[in-house]
Amino acid sequence: MTGSRAAFSPISQSDLRLPQMDQLYARSRLPQWLLLFTALLVTPLVWNQASAFHLFSWLGALALLAVLRQMLVRRYWQTPSQDRLRRRWSFFFHLGNLASGLCLSWVYIALTPLDNFAQQALTYSIAGGVSLCVGVLYATRFSAFISFLLPAWLPPLAWLLHDGSASSKGWATMGMLLFFFIVLTAVLIHRIMRQAMISNLRNESLLANLGSAHQRTEELNQQLTREIMQRRQAEQSLRDSHIALEERVRQRTAELEAATHNLRASEAQLSLAMEASQLGLWDWDLTTDKVYHSRLKPLFGMPEDAVPSMLEDLRPLVHPADLTMVRKTLVQHMKNKTHAYRMEYRVRHADGHWLWVEDSGRAVERDASGRVLRMIGTRRDISARKLQDEQAQLSATVFEASSEGIFILSPTLDILAVNQAYSVITGLQQQDAVGRNMLELSGSDELRQQFLHLQSMLNNKDRWQGEMTARRRSGESFPIWLQVTVVRNPAAQITHYVGFFADLTTHRQTEEQLQYLTNYDPLTQLANRRRFSENLQEATARARQSDSQLALLHIDLDRFKHINVTLGHAVADALLQEVAHRLSALLGDEHGLARLSADEFVVIVEHANCSETLGTLADHILERLREPMLIADHELVVTASIGISLFPATARDSLQLITQANQAMQHAKHLGGNRLQFYTPQLRAYSLDRLQLENQLRKAIEEQQLIVYFQPKLHLASDCIRSAEALVRWQHPTRGLIMPGEFISIAEETGLIVALGEQVLNAACAQASHWCHHGPASVIVSVNLSVQQLRQEGFASRVRQTLQRHNLPARLLELELTESMLAEHSEAIVDNINELQALGVSLSVDDFGTGYSSLAYLKRFPISTLKIDRAFIAALNDAPGDDAIVRAVIAMAHSLSLQVVAEGVETEAQLQFLKENGCDDVQGYLISRPINAEAFSALLEQNQPPRDLLDTLGR
Ligand code: C2E
Ligand code: CA
Ligand code: CA
Repeated sequence: MTGSRAAFSPISQSDLRLPQMDQLYARSRLPQWLLLFTALLVTPLVWNQASAFHLFSWLGALALLAVLRQMLVRRYWQTPSQDRLRRRWSFFFHLGNLASGLCLSWVYIALTPLDNFAQQALTYSIAGGVSLCVGVLYATRFSAFISFLLPAWLPPLAWLLHDGSASSKGWATMGMLLFFFIVLTAVLIHRIMRQAMISNLRNESLLANLGSAHQRTEELNQQLTREIMQRRQAEQSLRDSHIALEERVRQRTAELEAATHNLRASEAQLSLAMEASQLGLWDWDLTTDKVYHSRLKPLFGMPEDAVPSMLEDLRPLVHPADLTMVRKTLVQHMKNKTHAYRMEYRVRHADGHWLWVEDSGRAVERDASGRVLRMIGTRRDISARKLQDEQAQLSATVFEASSEGIFILSPTLDILAVNQAYSVITGLQQQDAVGRNMLELSGSDELRQQFLHLQSMLNNKDRWQGEMTARRRSGESFPIWLQVTVVRNPAAQITHYVGFFADLTTHRQTEEQLQYLTNYDPLTQLANRRRFSENLQEATARARQSDSQLALLHIDLDRFKHINVTLGHAVADALLQEVAHRLSALLGDEHGLARLSADEFVVIVEHANCSETLGTLADHILERLREPMLIADHELVVTASIGISLFPATARDSLQLITQANQAMQHAKHLGGNRLQFYTPQLRAYSLDRLQLENQLRKAIEEQQLIVYFQPKLHLASDCIRSAEALVRWQHPTRGLIMPGEFISIAEETGLIVALGEQVLNAACAQASHWCHHGPASVIVSVNLSVQQLRQEGFASRVRQTLQRHNLPARLLELELTESMLAEHSEAIVDNINELQALGVSLSVDDFGTGYSSLAYLKRFPISTLKIDRAFIAALNDAPGDDAIVRAVIAMAHSLSLQVVAEGVETEAQLQFLKENGCDDVQGYLISRPINAEAFSALLEQNQPPRDLLDTLGR
C-alpha cells in the first residue's frame, strides 16, 4: 500500500536533488577534459604572443583542477548515497566550477592579444564553444551552470569593455549576446532535463510499484493456492471422519444387536444354569423380614411355597460356629463397605443333617439414609464340593508327603506336577520340572527309548511297574522302581499318566554289600567259604574236563587261638589281615585263595600235576608266614600247618578234597605244626584211629582206666626226694599203657580234659594224703592243669573240696600252670588263682622259656616255682647260649624268691651244671622215670639218697 501511495505523490525538489547531484558528478569529468582540450588547442596558438608566465601558470592551474576534480569525483562515488546530499559535495563541486570558469576566462584576458583579430577569433571561438558545451553539460542544475558560466564570461566581458577599443567593444557585444543565448539555452535545457528527470523518476517509481504489485499478486496467488489446498484437505478429512463415523455407528449397532442377542441368550442360559447349578434364588424384603426363596426344599427342607422370615426361620439354622462370620459379612455389606458378598457356611436341614451352602448376594434397594430395604442373592448346596476339597487337600498332602517320587504327565508326556520327593530324589526343583517334557528331561537316547516303549505298553495295559534307570540332575544314573498308571476320561481317552517311583540306590548298595558279604570275608577281603565252595566246584569241573590235576592247600595257623586269647581280638584280627595280605601277595590272583574260618585259609591250585612244585609252593607259604610281623608293637612270629589234597589222585570230588586237605593239615599239626603234609590213605587210617581213640577216651574216663604215675623231683641241697609230678597214663584194655602225648591233645580238643584233669587231681591228692598220713614220707605232689580247667568258675572250690575229702594239707599240693594261662586276661582264671593261693596251694610255671617268659606276670601272680623247660636242659653243654639262659633264669627266679626246678635232666653233666648254678630241684630220667604209686612208695620207703636209689633200680 505504501508503494501505491508513492506512485501518485508529486515529485518535489528534494526528490530531485540526489539524482541531479549524481548526474552532475557523473558528467563532471567531461568539462575537465574539454578544458584540457582547450589548453591543447590554445597553447600552440598563443605560444609566441602570450607571456610564458601566464601561459604556464594557466596550464598548471588547469592540470591542478583536473587532478582535484578527479579526486573529488572518486570520493563522491565512494560515499554512501544518503551522505551525498551533504553540503560539502555541492560546495566543492561549485567551487571547482568557479575555478574552471575563471581558468577559461584567463584565455581571453591574459593569453589572447587584443590586437590580433584572427587570433582572437580563433581563441574566442574555442573558449566560447567549450564554455557552451560545459554550460549545456551542467544544465541539469542551475547553480552548477551559473557557477561555471559567470566566472567564465563576466571577467572577459568586463575586460573587453574596459579596453574600450572598437574591436573589443564588438567582441564584448558579441560576447554579451552569446552569453545571453547560452544562458537561455542552458535554462531551456535545464527545464527539459528537469522535466525528463521528473518523468524518469515517476516512471521508475511506477515501475517499482508495478514490480511490488506484481510480487504482491504472486504472494496472493500463492496464499490462495495454499488456502485452496487446506480447504481440500479439510474437506477430505471431513469426508473420512464422516465415513469412520458411519462405520462406528454401524459397528455399535451391530454390537448392540449382538449384546441384545447375547443378553437374551444369557437370560435363557441363566435360567437354565440356575436350574442346572441348583441355585436357590432369594429375595429378602428387610422391611417385612420376609424371604422369597426358591429351592427351599433341598436347601432347608422347607416346603417350596413357604415364605420364611429371615430372623425367625432362617437365622437359627446357621451353624453356631459360622454365625459370627455370617453376621459380620452381612453388616459389612449393609454398611455399604462391600459391593456384594459371597460366603460359605453350614445350615441345618430340616431332617437334622448339616450342609454347606454358598451364599452370595447384594443390596438392591436402600432408602435415602442408606439403610438397606431389599436384598437379592443366591444360595446353593456346596457340601459335595467341600467334601471334594477336603479330599483334594488330603490327596495333596499325601502327594507332597509321600517319600516316593510322584509325577503326573499329560498324554504328550509333559510334566504337569511333581511332588517334593521327586525333587529330593532327582535333584530337580518342582518349578524346573513342571512344564517340561519327560522325554526331553530323560537326558539320554536310551532313557527316551525306554520311555517311549513304556508309553506304548501303557496304551494297552493301563498299568506298568518295573525297574528302570533314571537320571539325576547331576547326570548320575540311578535305579528306580517305577509304577505308572494311566488315567482315562469317561470316553476312555488317556488324560494323564501318574508315575510313582522309589530310589533303589541304597537298596542296590545294600544288595551289593550283601552280595559282597555273602561272597567275601569283610576282614581280609578274601573269598569266604561260600565263594570258595563255588570256586572249588568250578575248578574241579574244569580239571575234570581238561583231565588235569587239582590241588587244595589247607593252611591253618599254629597256636592262633593262643594269640587270640592272650593278645586280644584286635591284634588277632590285624594278624589275620597281615597273613591274608602276605598270602595274596605271594599267590596272586591265579590261585583261588579264601578264608574259611578264623585262622583257616585255603588255596586252590589248578593244573597241579607236579607234587614237587606244590611242595615248593607250600614251603614258600610257610617261609613267608614265618617271617616276623610287627602288630601293635608286638613282634609276632606265626607258623602254620598246611595240608594238601589232590584231585583226582586221592579225592573223587570237591567235598573229599576239602576233608582230605583238612585231615592232612590236622596231621601236620599233630606233628608239631610249621610243616606241610600231603594227604595219604594212611593218614585217613590215622584219623580214623584218632576218632576211635576219642571215643575210647570218653569211655576210659568213665571206667577209670586212667592211672597216675609219679615222677620224683630231687632236692639238690638235701639230696632227697621231697616232691613228685603226677603224670597221667591210660591203661588201655587192648593197647596197653598209653602215654599222655597220644591222648592229651584229643582230650583238649574234645573238652574231655576237664573230667580227665579232675580224676588225676583226685587220684594225686588221694595218693599224697596216703603218703602224708601213712608214710613212708610226706611228698609235695604237683598236678598239671589244663587251661580249660582253670577257666572254669569254681575250680578252686573243687580243689578245696578235694583237699578236704582226702584230708590233705594244701601245702602238699602244687599245681602246674603254663605261661599262656597266666597271660590270659580272664577273670575266672584270676579268681581261681587268687583263691588257690588263699587255700595255701602252691603254683608253679611249667615249661618256662617256651612261651612269653615275661616277668610281669610272675610278679603279678602268686607263683612259687619255675620249671625250666626240658629243651633248655637238653641243650645244656651243647649250645653255650642255652647255658647262659638257664643260668639267667635261675638267677632271675631267685631274685624274685622263686624256686627253680629243672626238667628232663638225663645226664650227670646236666645235673652238675644245675647244682653249680644253684638250681633247687631236678626232675628227669637221671633221677627216675615216672613210676606208679607203689613203686614210688617203695622208692620213698627205702629212704635212701636218690643216687643209691638209682643203683638199686639197676640203672
Ligand atoms: P610235662 O608236664 O612237661 O611233663 C613232663 C614230661 O617229661 C613227662 O612226659 C615225663 O615223662 C617227661 N620226662 C621226664 N623226665 C624226662 C627226661 O629225663 N627226658 C625226657 N625225654 N622226658 C622226660 P609224659 O608223662 O609223657 O607227659 C607229657 C605231657 O603230658 C606233660 O608234660 C604234660 O604236659 C602232659 N600231662 C601229663 N599228665 C597230665 C595230666 O594229668 N594233666 C594234664 N593236663 N597234662 C598232663
Ligand atoms: Ca608238668
Ligand atoms: Ca614240663
